[in-house]
Amino acid sequence: MNKTIRKIKNIALVAHDNMKDELLDWAGFNKGTIARHHLFATGTTGTLLEEILDTAVNKMQSGPLGGDLQLGALISEGKIDFLIFFWDPLEAQPHDPDIKALLRIAAVWNIPVACNRATADFIISSDLMNQEYTRRIADYEAYKNRYNKK
Ligand code: PGA
Repeated sequence: MNKTIRKIKNIALVAHDNMKDELLDWAGFNKGTIARHHLFATGTTGTLLEEILDTAVNKMQSGPLGGDLQLGALISEGKIDFLIFFWDPLEAQPHDPDIKALLRIAAVWNIPVACNRATADFIISSDLMNQEYTRRIADYEAYKNRYNKK
């Protein structure tokens, strides 16, 4: 199964508290590019991004209250095209299982993920940001039909 992603992408953004300044600085620097796309974010990150970018962001719950899982659900529904997730490598988070879940489901659906600024730079400056892209998705039909004996 493949999914064609339109020029206007659905971008999800999340930053842990110690990483918020980095994400906001990156977003401000790339404001012209990012603001052309549809943005989704965990609650606090989204509120801060709206101030910096002066554009609306689809805000989920705050991450520890379920926001990461909401973004994961959107990914499994095919509604997110790439994920900018500046997670904190130096501080334990109360919602560690949710963080793992978000990263796992992004891998399941072959979603590009930037976990640091350098990767985000490479993704945002890719030519693919300005064109349609066909994202290959593994064939999960055999898995879904594993109990179907007919
Ligand atoms: P926040 O959540 O944007 O609501 O702070 C981020 C997170 O910790 O996952």
